[in-house]
Amino acid sequence: MSYVISTSYGNDSMALALWAHEQGLEDVTCVYIDTGWAASSWPLRVNKCEDMLKELGINVARIHSGGMAEMVLDRKGFPSNQHQFCTAFLKGIPFLDWIEDFDPVRSAMVMIGKRRAESEDRKDIPEFIFNSEYHGGRTLWHPLYMHTKTERNVILNKYGVEILSHRSDECHPCVNANRPDFLRLTPGEIERVNDLEVEIARPMFRPKRFGAMGIHGVVAWAKDGRKRGSIEDEEHACAGFFGCGL
Ligand code: SF4
Repeated sequence: MSYVISTSYGNDSMALALWAHEQGLEDVTCVYIDTGWAASSWPLRVNKCEDMLKELGINVARIHSGGMAEMVLDRKGFPSNQHQFCTAFLKGIPFLDWIEDFDPVRSAMVMIGKRRAESEDRKDIPEFIFNSEYHGGRTLWHPLYMHTKTERNVILNKYGVEILSHRSDECHPCVNANRPDFLRLTPGEIERVNDLEVEIARPMFRPKRFGAMGIHGVVAWAKDGRKRGSIEDEEHACAGFFGCGL
């Protein structure tokens, strides 16, 4: 049996990779998908995590998706928290293409670091999903499904992995970004969004949701604006089957 961990090198997926090592699982491959939209600082985290895993005997692989900017220009629209087509285009389809080559006989088990304690949306996730349609009919395993944040952090601390105060920055900003995420955007990352907004003449974030038009307005709201419900959540949850942000 081989194992493929869908990894964004956030807290949960890195803890899962280390958990797999501690369990003595063999033939484990961690796969990172480059969305072309990561934070400028994120490659450093990815490199560090990959180096540590390789030292532990875990294989690592990278997939290059078409990229957020290309997808937005092609569709002349941004994904949103309601129409989250990015998960399929940037993660799901590239992952499926890759794993069909990597595991043509479909004997690998796919692992994702989702935990029930993460959010209300995930409170019922099962340990296993058999014949997962989003993983080419392979079995999907969530071994950390009962882990609390504290238990997860024990694993990360044991290996000296920095515990992030936010979700993975594999996409930055994510369509599900919250106030702390907007406040962490660098000027260059803000301009990257602004350039795309100008190019397609549409804002990335719905004006109604934030009471602001365009990324500069949203960042201004993040600095000064009033509270806006669930956008304030410290750890927002991304929907979908691809383990975004973990
Ligand atoms: S991390 Fe966010 S922006 Fe990136 S694919 Fe997932 S939901 Fe979309």
